[in-house]
Amino acid sequence: MSFFKDMISVFRKRELTLIESSREAEDVHTFVFTKDKDLTWTAGQYGLFTITHKKIKNPTKPFSIASAPTEDVVKITTRISDNPSEFKQAMLELQPGMKIKMGGPVGTFQLEEGTPSLLVAAGIGITPFRSILKELAASGKQAGNPTRLLYLDSKPSYLFQDELNAIARPASIQIDFLSSREELEQEMVKFITQHKDQGKYFIAGPKSMVESITTLLQNHNISKKNIKKDAFFGL
Ligand SMILES: Cc1cc2nc3c(=O)[nH]c(=O)nc-3n(C[C@H](O)[C@H](O)[C@H](O)COP(=O)(O)OP(=O)(O)OC[C@H]3O[C@@H](n4cnc5c(N)ncnc54)[C@H](O)[C@@H]3O)c2cc1C
Repeated sequence: MSFFKDMISVFRKRELTLIESSREAEDVHTFVFTKDKDLTWTAGQYGLFTITHKKIKNPTKPFSIASAPTEDVVKITTRISDNPSEFKQAMLELQPGMKIKMGGPVGTFQLEEGTPSLLVAAGIGITPFRSILKELAASGKQAGNPTRLLYLDSKPSYLFQDELNAIARPASIQIDFLSSREELEQEMVKFITQHKDQGKYFIAGPKSMVESITTLLQNHNISKKNIKKDAFFGL
């Protein structure tokens, strides 16, 4: 059922107007767009964003919606190198008032209430978790007991760090900002030892990272049904 709902939603493209863009870190930019009243999503979903102000070869790319539905704007955050793709170059050209299109929202990357949860964000993979945690904070609900977010970034320029820290305590979430793969594995093993296959494991980030973290979980006997992945293909 949700597959058909997603398909309908993908084909229905909406125009979004840029409100503002800003630089989060040296090579990371956030774009904030208007949100129609009837557009809603579940925290953790992504959209298919299409460049419309010029013709480019691959005009549509998926991005997690980094804002929570309650924030009333559509926010996407992306890494843009010094030598950007045509798509990212076109994103940099966007000025307030200019439009893009969005298909979706799609995806099933959502927390389950009450279950011990380990959230693993690799680099730019923090975007769906920002939405999920912001929504949790807005709802006043507590996360599953316990919920830990492990945020790995080799360049430790952790995005949204202040916002995440502000959410963590009232929502009973422990956040660790990590800079090495070894630290990540150590912390993951601690959680796995405690919660084994009773916990839920959420991983978001570049596809290769998501795959290697999944392998680690499976090597510790975590079953597929307890691993939710948001693999950023194309990174
Ligand atoms: C479910 C999902 C959610 C996602 N969420 C996010 C997100 O929140 N944030 C995010 O950043 N990404 C996200 N992604 C990945 C995103 O869709 C892009 O694939 C990714 O950002 C890379 O885009 P790109 O245009 O730089 O890629 P590519 O076109 O693959 O380019 C990669 C690199 O190649 C070089 N290059 C490519 N074309 C040219 C050119 N014409 N000239 C010069 N150099 C070039 C550039 O150095 C460029 O950086 C998500 C993907 C999925 C599937």
